[in-house]
Amino acid sequence: MNDHAVDMTMCAASGCPCVGSMSNSTTGTDKWYCGIHFGQPGGASSRITSELQRMAWLVAIMLDVRRVYAAENWGNVRQRANYQFQMHQRNDLAYGREKTDVSVSSWLKRLDGALRASCLIDDANAQESIPTI
Ligand SMILES: [Zn+2]
Repeated sequence: MNDHAVDMTMCAASGCPCVGSMSNSTTGTDKWYCGIHFGQPGGASSRITSELQRMAWLVAIMLDVRRVYAAENWGNVRQRANYQFQMHQRNDLAYGREKTDVSVSSWLKRLDGALRASCLIDDANAQESIPTI
């Protein structure tokens, strides 16, 4: 990859730290967006990106968890996540803090909801929750 190459695995919204997982294309040739940018009005894009960059620590936790939670070093990821929750005064997001945290996937859904709420709170056109990242 050179300096001008675009990482095609990332969201097409400029500067977005999330993985691009959604597209209107049926052939895979269109731009891919993260679940938060996808379907949002273009005018909201930079505000959403700014919030996602501010919340990049949570985006990174969600990527880490999705990458390794079934692996042997899951405990290390959970420990790093707990450290980040503490640093950002969001211990409420730690695994097991809600009754709904019955599995890692239900916990990830809760983290996605927190991220989505943070990014789309002022947006009257916000879509229903769609799995992201
Ligand atoms: Zn995005």
